Amino acid sequence: MTTLHEGYFTAGLDADPELAVAIRGELERQRDGIELIASENLVSRLVLEAQGSVLTNKTVEGKPHARYYGGAEFADTIEALAVARAKQVFGAAFANVQPHSGSNANAGVFLGLLKLGDTILSMDTAAGGHISHGHPATLTGRDYTIVRYGVSRETERIDLDQVRDLAKAHAPRLIVAGGSAYPRAIDFAGLRAIADEVGALFMVDMAHFAGLVATGLHPHPFPHAHVVTTTTYKSLRGARGGLALWNDPALSDRIDYGIFPGVQGSVMLHAVAGKAACLGEALRPEFAAYNRAVVDNAATLAETLAAAGIRLVAGGTDTGLMLVDLSNRGVTGDVAAKALEKAGLAVNKNLIPFDPRPPEAPSGLRLSSNAGTARGFGREEFRRIAGFIDRVIANPADEALLGAIHAEVTELCRRFPIYAGL
Ligand SMILES: *Cc1c(COP(=O)(O)O)cnc(C)c1O
Repeated sequence: MTTLHEGYFTAGLDADPELAVAIRGELERQRDGIELIASENLVSRLVLEAQGSVLTNKTVEGKPHARYYGGAEFADTIEALAVARAKQVFGAAFANVQPHSGSNANAGVFLGLLKLGDTILSMDTAAGGHISHGHPATLTGRDYTIVRYGVSRETERIDLDQVRDLAKAHAPRLIVAGGSAYPRAIDFAGLRAIADEVGALFMVDMAHFAGLVATGLHPHPFPHAHVVTTTTYKSLRGARGGLALWNDPALSDRIDYGIFPGVQGSVMLHAVAGKAACLGEALRPEFAAYNRAVVDNAATLAETLAAAGIRLVAGGTDTGLMLVDLSNRGVTGDVAAKALEKAGLAVNKNLIPFDPRPPEAPSGLRLSSNAGTARGFGREEFRRIAGFIDRVIANPADEALLGAIHAEVTELCRRFPIYAGL
């Protein structure tokens, strides 16, 4: 008699048809749909395998070569590889690749560098900032005093004068830059100068443009930032999770202890292996070519949408990400996103700066060229995507039209197949 059910070590997904159907459904959805959600990407088969490996069985705590548990020889190799690659990709002296998510990377850095109640000056969520930078609904929002800066009404870009005024009035310990819906390059030198004026540390969360930073297509947060955080699954096109980077050895213990044991426990070694894999890919020349295409394709999408009379927030994009304002098209972001989904295009509704509408039914949509570029779409395909969007938002309730566009989308996607053999 065995305590294991048949196929325990061999059967895989076949052992759970109910789950298998949903996972295969998701694979088909990714295969046959156009992914425009900025927080997503399509990882390589290498990253997929690293993240789905037996490393999920191994528990380690602490740093490579200084573990609490034994049996960590390969764990040490894997984490040390991820750390070395992260440092090389971003030109940093130190890296911590353990954060389970981008939010944990930020929370760990805050915990390590700040005291309870210290003031953080970060971008308002309504202006494109990320929720993990001190939104009142989060632990960080509760533990620190949060002051928010926004964007200028005219330019819809960060207004350094406003940031300086707020910094002088509130004397933050930390200034945070980077957001989840900010389409323009950020002036890191300008923000660091303000941080220096008020004696604050400066952190950049580059989740949405880390790939561009790695390949020289976006200004580098170093040497301006004291600490840089990022997710590894958006523009970095890799494993789920986050990482933190810095150059000053005096910060090392504080950041490392802030992450563990500060905000999380043992390492997700399978995710760390996935991070090592995507960071290895980021060192290849193909990754630079990919990122150049991300920027080109985003520019093409933005220009084609603008030519169709769709307004782009801040007038366009410097990254793979853009925000469109639908208010002059007589449709809200929620209605547009649902109609686009019916037509086979995944996008998310989004507030635009100074949005008069509520978050549930905002004026905008957020789009990105990350995932489409990963499957090989070029300018021609992104021009077609702009056309699909234009047609859908002109008639979001026309089911026949949505069905017809869905057929075109499927045909387009099948010419750019993903995960053959899965
Ligand atoms: C996506 C994102 C995060 C959070 O990532 P999670 O992995 O969902 O916690 C943090 N910061 C920015 C700027 C992001 O865009």
